[in-house]
Amino acid sequence: MSTDIEPREHTELRAAVSALGRRHGPGFDRAALWAEAGKLGYLGVNLPEEYGGGGGGMAELSIVLEEAGAAGAPLLMMVVSPAICGTVISRFGTDAQKEAWLPGLADGSRTMAFGITEPDAGSNSHRITTTATRTEDGWVLDGRKVFVSGVDIADATLIVGRTSDARTGSLKACLFIVPRDTPGFGRRHIEMELDADEKQFELTLDEVHLPADALVGDEDAGLLQLFAGLNPERIMTAAFAIGMGRYALGRAVAYAKERQVWKAPIGAHQAIAHPLAQSHIELELARLMMQKAAKLYDAGDDAGAGEAANMAKYAAAEACVKAVDAAVHTLGGNGLTKEFGLARLVTASRVARIAPVSREMILNFVSAHTLGLPKSY
Ligand SMILES: Cc1cc2nc3c(=O)[nH]c(=O)nc-3n(C[C@H](O)[C@H](O)[C@H](O)COP(=O)(O)OP(=O)(O)OC[C@H]3O[C@@H](n4cnc5c(N)ncnc54)[C@H](O)[C@@H]3O)c2cc1C
Repeated sequence: MSTDIEPREHTELRAAVSALGRRHGPGFDRAALWAEAGKLGYLGVNLPEEYGGGGGGMAELSIVLEEAGAAGAPLLMMVVSPAICGTVISRFGTDAQKEAWLPGLADGSRTMAFGITEPDAGSNSHRITTTATRTEDGWVLDGRKVFVSGVDIADATLIVGRTSDARTGSLKACLFIVPRDTPGFGRRHIEMELDADEKQFELTLDEVHLPADALVGDEDAGLLQLFAGLNPERIMTAAFAIGMGRYALGRAVAYAKERQVWKAPIGAHQAIAHPLAQSHIELELARLMMQKAAKLYDAGDDAGAGEAANMAKYAAAEACVKAVDAAVHTLGGNGLTKEFGLARLVTASRVARIAPVSREMILNFVSAHTLGLPKSY
């Protein structure tokens, strides 16, 4: 991919992460790559320098995830740990919370998961019922979450709840750091058809007692704080999808140049070449929108970043699904073998279309907010 609209430092970061990713490669040891990327400063590239980060933003962090993925070694927890949790704590946390968490999130020695999805709310986050009740010395949390990634490998999970005086009406979100072994914080592994190291969990919060300083930010700031984390999540999901799409495309192109069953390699047939060319174009376009979203977010334009992050996530997920489909098809029977390892991406690529916000909810957002069309729901 050409990268010449980027500043030199970004191109250098891209090359360095790409080399690291290729060294670990497909079939990589997730924990080993995480530890090395952390030590080299890549996981905390967006976090403040005074807390051990790189002082950059989403522009840099999305490069790291994209390049690791393009090398066949994606790090899913980057979407939540440094991007959502690290950002929310840096922007809204107390000094003590920053000191407690940011250096570890930056060097990868600590990880934080993020839980918002609930079984009865799904895409409609306004309906979440995980409730935070104030006690004399802190909070009690009750509720359920579903599909939360990496809770077993995370030191804590940032849980989105609502305050007890706001059970109805629009969401008054508040965010709590819940350490993994807190009494009452249960988890059940959900078996997924995904060949990934990071697992998904259903969580139960049954009278989880938390100290007052478990609350991150202001209990009344609501959606502003939440979206400070959700926009980075969308940008990072775009990076995840673009990386995966590029990886699949690269494998297919290499195969199409070599494989010959008539008088020319299969890549000479336009039926094989054009879907690959189309995927390349669509991945490049998605990346441009991701770069725009990251630029707006890093410049402090949360509203502008919201629209661009949604569009980038949409474009990247669609490009990724199509690239993986074209790649599998290019390899013929080998596309479905374990040896070539592409068929497992068919399921994995669908994740970006569903999470963290589905394709349809982005189309709803653009219809209603950007185009001003009436809402059906
Ligand atoms: C691998 C994986 C990892 C995940 N990790 C996390 C995590 O770490 N933390 C976390 O909190 N969550 C996580 N999620 C959850 C994810 O964010 C949700 O699955 C997603 O938000 C969709 O919610 P849902 O599954 O309940 O689908 P639903 O909301 O039930 O939607 C089902 C379908 O209906 C469509 N739909 C719903 N409403 C409308 C509407 N108004 N108009 C048109 N179509 C509509 C949707 O687009 C979708 O196609 C993860 C999910 C997966 C698959």
